[in-house]
Amino acid sequence: MENKKGKKWKEFLSYVFSTLLLLYFPLTTAAPSYSIRMERIITIIPIGDIESWVLDDLTKRLEATFSCRTKIYTTIPLAQKAYNPGRNQYYSSHLLQVLHRHLTPSKHEKVLAIVNVDLYVPQLNFVFGEAELGGHFAIISLSRLHQSFYGLAENKKLFLERTLKEAVHELGHTYGLRHCPDATCVMHFSNSLLDTDKKSSSFCRHCQNLLDEIIGVE
Ligand SMILES: [Zn+2]
Ligand SMILES: [Zn+2]
Repeated sequence: MENKKGKKWKEFLSYVFSTLLLLYFPLTTAAPSYSIRMERIITIIPIGDIESWVLDDLTKRLEATFSCRTKIYTTIPLAQKAYNPGRNQYYSSHLLQVLHRHLTPSKHEKVLAIVNVDLYVPQLNFVFGEAELGGHFAIISLSRLHQSFYGLAENKKLFLERTLKEAVHELGHTYGLRHCPDATCVMHFSNSLLDTDKKSSSFCRHCQNLLDEIIGVE
């Protein structure tokens, strides 16, 4: 009697086990893109002092936008070699080069550096940020995103919104996205802060589709 019960029990267990196996394998093979997506990490590097409430807000919102995780890297000092005393600005391309010395591109999917100083490239009066198109590194400046830069009362909410837009825009370039003609799309070129305020922090349908395609095949 006991033997028969034991046999039935064993049969039952082997049935449960094989059913679980069948369920497990189709599930793990059917959703590889989801698990790869969850492993993607955007590294944020503060250059000089960046307040934690800015980083906290930005990382949360970038994770939602790019369906990824974020990691805040150790703060690195602002390279004084990038400073141009004649312009009282820092050369953003030089700061991007400095990043290459600190991080190996292949070890980081995308890297976003954040500075509090005004940036420039030789052909322009200033830049909100710079990115390597289809590369790994991007940089944004918070300097001109503050209302106080223009002699106005500070507005935290507006400042965080502008920071997100600039961050998404430059990271969008690192994923290979170019400027978009849609003035409300985050990939629209901001010639002035007015353009930044006019556009949203989201991708238009076209840019979102491109991004999804690029992220999907990475
Ligand atoms: Zn751009
Ligand atoms: Zn667009």
